[in-house]
Amino acid sequence: MPFSRVIGHENIVALLKRALKADRIAHAYLFHGTEGCGMKQVALTLIEAVFCGSDDGCGTCSSCRKVSGQQHPDLHVLEPDGAFIKIDQIRGLQRELAYRPFEAQKKACIIERAERMNPAAANAFLKTLEEPPGDALLILLTTHAEGILPTILSRCQQLRFAPLPLDTIATQLQESGIAEEQARVAAALAGGSIEQARNLISSDLFASRHTLLEQVASLKESNITALFATAEQYSADKDGAGYLIAMLRLFWRDVLLVKSGCLAITNLDLVPLAQKMAERYTMKQIMEKLEFINRADQALNRNVNPRLTAEVLFMELNDYRRRSSHM
Ligand SMILES: [Zn+2]
Repeated sequence: MPFSRVIGHENIVALLKRALKADRIAHAYLFHGTEGCGMKQVALTLIEAVFCGSDDGCGTCSSCRKVSGQQHPDLHVLEPDGAFIKIDQIRGLQRELAYRPFEAQKKACIIERAERMNPAAANAFLKTLEEPPGDALLILLTTHAEGILPTILSRCQQLRFAPLPLDTIATQLQESGIAEEQARVAAALAGGSIEQARNLISSDLFASRHTLLEQVASLKESNITALFATAEQYSADKDGAGYLIAMLRLFWRDVLLVKSGCLAITNLDLVPLAQKMAERYTMKQIMEKLEFINRADQALNRNVNPRLTAEVLFMELNDYRRRSSHM
């Protein structure tokens, strides 16, 4: 994919294109940013351009196609084997990089989740950085730069990728055929990651958003068993519970907006539900619900069991405590 088709990251793309034009590509880069923001795509695009011999890969020649399919004999992609990138993997990479390139002018490698190099692997890799074999182009990707040895960091040109803006993600989703309302909600929940937005849209949780919000808001005849079943279904792990909480927060923020007389809300497809909630609850009660949601989020970050966190939150949002105290 040529640079012209990369989503967002305009400054980084401009910087890399200038470097390509001036033939001043660094031998090692560290791309640092949030999960799924498109770092790997930019890495592949840079390699396409370098191999293709232009300041923007054409995206159509056999070399570009092999790079984008990660099947080019001169491109080596390394990712953790289990929890870590191990020394054997680095040694294997070093052997590959020592060969002359087969088709391109130089060899290239992408190391995904570079912070997962264990100490032995990191020290071995340091040697590659100090004495790069041939003219190899090394690109490290990480979401946690603080987990990388300072000696490695200092030998790479570091580029920080910002989370993608909500509008950019929403537009992309719409271009791939997603309705505007859904695109905006998924973009708002995705934390700057187009990948997460896409995963979310295809998830069960997203599909049942409407029903779930009604149930938790006690609009539907809900009993504690049904609520707990829902909690179990959607909070099998921390990620699931995280999305659930983010979804509830986004909705209740919208309710707060409606209550304050503003209709410019994110959940555009749920305006009637948000209006009903705004009529039913006082401003204070809505703020209280947002506070419950914040507390659940904090509990999740402290590694409280995701299912338990969701169950407690559902009860609080459903006014369960209040009702049972009247019994
Ligand atoms: Zn090409």
